[in-house]
Amino acid sequence: MRKLKTFFIRTYGCQMNELDSEIMVGALEKRGLKRVREEEDADLLLFNTCSIRDLAERKVMGKIGQLGRSPKKRSIIGVTGCMANAKKDRIFRKLPHVDFVLGTNNISDLDAVLDEVLETGKQTFKTDHHFEENINYFDAVRDDPVKAFVSIIRGCDKYCTYCVVPYTRGKEVSRPPEDIKQECQRLAAKGYKEITLLGQNVNSYGNDKPEWNERFHDLLYRLDKIDGIERIRFMTSHPCDITVELMQAIAGLPSLCEFVHFPIQAGSSRILRKMNRRYTLEEYLEKVEMLRKIVPDVALGTDIIVGFPTETKEEFQMTYDIFKQIRYSVAFLFTYSARKGTPAYRWKDDISEEVKSERLQRLMELHNAISGEEMQNQIGKEVEVLVESRNKSGQLKGRTRCWKKVIFSGGDDLIGTLQKIKITGCNHQTLLGELVTPQALRLA
Ligand code: SF4
Repeated sequence: MRKLKTFFIRTYGCQMNELDSEIMVGALEKRGLKRVREEEDADLLLFNTCSIRDLAERKVMGKIGQLGRSPKKRSIIGVTGCMANAKKDRIFRKLPHVDFVLGTNNISDLDAVLDEVLETGKQTFKTDHHFEENINYFDAVRDDPVKAFVSIIRGCDKYCTYCVVPYTRGKEVSRPPEDIKQECQRLAAKGYKEITLLGQNVNSYGNDKPEWNERFHDLLYRLDKIDGIERIRFMTSHPCDITVELMQAIAGLPSLCEFVHFPIQAGSSRILRKMNRRYTLEEYLEKVEMLRKIVPDVALGTDIIVGFPTETKEEFQMTYDIFKQIRYSVAFLFTYSARKGTPAYRWKDDISEEVKSERLQRLMELHNAISGEEMQNQIGKEVEVLVESRNKSGQLKGRTRCWKKVIFSGGDDLIGTLQKIKITGCNHQTLLGELVTPQALRLA
């Protein structure tokens, strides 16, 4: 049987994919393989893919297609991630040089699938629709020594009409709270200061396991008590599941950051209904108002899709006006692209690419203008920054509790500590500052 010594992994898409890659890196290193940073040095090439947008899929297909045309040394090629579930064995038809396809719910089968490919030399695929909670999160190998992703729930039961996730990742499966706590304790013991709890919809944590009697806010109270974890973030939330208890937890728990990704997707109730978002604009605004009342300094993030089928000029204007009213700090803005297998795929994609681009451009300009004003408003203030690393120009960089990037000068000993920074200026998406205190705020 051929022996693999090295591997290369490329990750596309969301934080969940990044975490899945870290878990696969852990499994491969345990198997004795060494990670290399150049594709041509690898015996095994892994592409952890994303299906959320057509462009993301085409990029991966193009990249792997190129490898098939390359006359260079033949490596084993594996495709993992959402594209593996969305396209399954069709990947082999389009990319016959791919050796195996492993779905999002099967990353714990990587070892066995590799053995099978090496023993038989045959193309292999494993793409279960249902996730079994059997992943060894504890062996994940993380590049970042300060911040870590921690999975708490996989899959999604919401079935927004444009989204492939319920079909690629399956139904919601919560991870046992004790298991999550243990992983966070181990991360704290290794010196990690910030954890981001991950799920397609973290707010529905525990709904699939009523016998646990543990909801998302209960989990947060549990994790806040862990010594050494200075900051907890979570990603991402569905507005209809955000509860008053969660808002109170954000206001009351010292480690929980005052930043909520609260994706509105569109500003018109008709479009929201067509998207199956399960809230009206009025209900969304009520939640924002309640959240801002309970957590007055909260910063909000959003995702928005422009050019959804049948979106009128007036409906887009509603999205624009709501953005202006809410003043999101962070926004992921997209033009609609039809995804095969979703209900919206059957509808006419009737907004021209030109109109979609114009709407996107308008929204991006508004977002940049609001961000610029917010950055200016920070000048002169003192903020708490978790120092993460150095940037390319050698300055220290970190983020505020509200997820604003800050750069400043200082020594390497500050990396992994909380510092008070006075904001002295800003450029584009970054705040510039200087150290207020020469030593760490709370950490040794
Ligand atoms: S909530 Fe909607 S957009 Fe988010 S993952 Fe689930 S189906 Fe997709």
